[in-house]
Amino acid sequence: MTKLTWRQIIAQQWYLTGFCFKHAPGFMVYHLFEAVKLQVSIFFEFTFTVNYVLTVAEEGGDFRKILWCMGILMAAIAVSTVTFAIYKHYVFPRGKQTLYQALRMEIYEKAKEIDLSCYDDKDFYENFILATEETDRCLDKFLVFENSIIARLVGISCTLVYCVWINPAALLILAVVLPFELYCAMQENKRTVEARMERLPHEQQREYGNRVFYLSDYAGELRLYPQMKDRCRNDYAEENKEIEAINRQYGKQLFAYGLLRGGILSRLVKEGAIWTLLLYQMLVLRVLSGAQLVTSRACIWRASNNMEIVINSFRTVAENSAYVYRIREFMQMETSIVSEKGDAVPEGSGGLSIEHVDFGYLPGQQVLKDVSFAVKPGQKIALVGYNGSGKTTLVKLLLRLYDPDRGKICYHGKDIRDYQVMAYRRSIGSVFQDFKLYAATLKENVLMDAADGSREESFRVEQALYDAHFTLEDNRLSYQIETPLTTEFEKDGVNLSGGEAQKVAIARTLYRKQNMIIMDEPSSALDPLAEYRLNQELNEIARDKTVIFISHRLSTVRDADCIYMMENGRIVESGTHEALLAEDGKYAAMWKVQAGLYT
Ligand code: ADP
Repeated sequence: MTKLTWRQIIAQQWYLTGFCFKHAPGFMVYHLFEAVKLQVSIFFEFTFTVNYVLTVAEEGGDFRKILWCMGILMAAIAVSTVTFAIYKHYVFPRGKQTLYQALRMEIYEKAKEIDLSCYDDKDFYENFILATEETDRCLDKFLVFENSIIARLVGISCTLVYCVWINPAALLILAVVLPFELYCAMQENKRTVEARMERLPHEQQREYGNRVFYLSDYAGELRLYPQMKDRCRNDYAEENKEIEAINRQYGKQLFAYGLLRGGILSRLVKEGAIWTLLLYQMLVLRVLSGAQLVTSRACIWRASNNMEIVINSFRTVAENSAYVYRIREFMQMETSIVSEKGDAVPEGSGGLSIEHVDFGYLPGQQVLKDVSFAVKPGQKIALVGYNGSGKTTLVKLLLRLYDPDRGKICYHGKDIRDYQVMAYRRSIGSVFQDFKLYAATLKENVLMDAADGSREESFRVEQALYDAHFTLEDNRLSYQIETPLTTEFEKDGVNLSGGEAQKVAIARTLYRKQNMIIMDEPSSALDPLAEYRLNQELNEIARDKTVIFISHRLSTVRDADCIYMMENGRIVESGTHEALLAEDGKYAAMWKVQAGLYT
């Protein structure tokens, strides 16, 4: 976690102030009004009125004056209670939600755009997760801080001005003790932040162990491999021990500074000095009335209490700013694949050419090396090779999820970087190995877009599912294509098997009717017979489309117009199935191994 300078901390708070006023101006004005009102009313109720009433009483004044004063005070309290209730029950909850939503929307918009390569950067990813998890809390803390700081500053000003008026000498004590208190508080703040920084990696590690225990993804495996459960539990206990050690180490120093500030300076020195001064002024010098003694004491106490709260809140503010800094760093990240700019993609089938493409996820680690090949419109090509040879990476480049480090990819004769990126991606149908199903209806999972609710749309979804061999005649699908998938939120939701889910992913592509289809192991979760039937169907549906097919099962790619064999990021062989067998190279060797497995 980055440690910020005071300038940076102020900049983060300034940013949040601007953000909140931009998105919920009415709420912010009410929020601050309540803060000011609270302190002003406290001052009038407990200082001004007390002084007035006691002075009238001491001087034997007219009792009606006291009644008037009380009446005005009661009326003010009644009005204040109503405005506060409106604020608490209506304005605050709504305003807070508006701000949460506004910030989250900005983060989601950015997250949608950010280059995928950012996700490969461990530091960036960790910070991004950390920051987004803290978004709501950041805003909560900011609102509390802003309210508190304004309220306290108003409170301090009221009491100090009043104190100057009725007993300026008492202020001297504050002026002498305050710098020492401030020093101790800053030391406490520093130690607290340091302790938090030291704890952070251990807390993250502990959180990982925690996740493993509560996420359902791990539940099955942990039952099969109980040792892993023990390992996670031990790690958790280890991290806890580390955290406790850090707490103990810093605890001693924090205790010492806390005692010095809160106990010795604040209680003994300051309180002692104030009482001595006030009683001396009243009993010996006789310059202070009883009413003034009570009011001076109240003023000094209130001012110093408010100062203490302001000082303490800087600790929270420093920590909160560090999170805000992370969020802003994320928001300001430059994206190289920008969605708005670029040309429209031409209609119809186009040729694709990959020209001397080099690519690596991380600097110095080349995953694709000088890859070149061309796909004519309507051609069916296959990429094959062992795991890790770079097939999926090449697909990611074809879909412009990443850009090549060197070389270019052209579609319809033009570098794909010149097209408007979303239009380009939408012009290609793709099925990924690690596709995801969403907690939405079956229909929405095929559409992956806003539904227009028309009968024709539903019909096309059903057709796409049918073409992908997904059977709707299943008792579990009580609402047919409107059946919710996953049981995350819906009791009558359906959890599909791996093979069924894969068919839904294929239906997504078939629904869109694009001219080019890229399929990365689209049928790996199907049994061989289902795979064979589906491939027949896909061949039929994609008859006039350009298809790039990746599969480790060579039997599914043997009919391709051209097969490219990849190894260590390079294309090492290419040709038809028969030509490659005749070449008796790496493809032929792989084929023989697989054929052997099947016989
Ligand atoms: P294939 O699809 O042929 O199995 P991939 O394209 O998935 O191979 O992977 C090629 C190489 O790139 C592998 O060494 C893999 O570890 C590496 N790789 C894949 N994704 C990433 C990533 N996001 N960050 C870093 N390296 C990656």
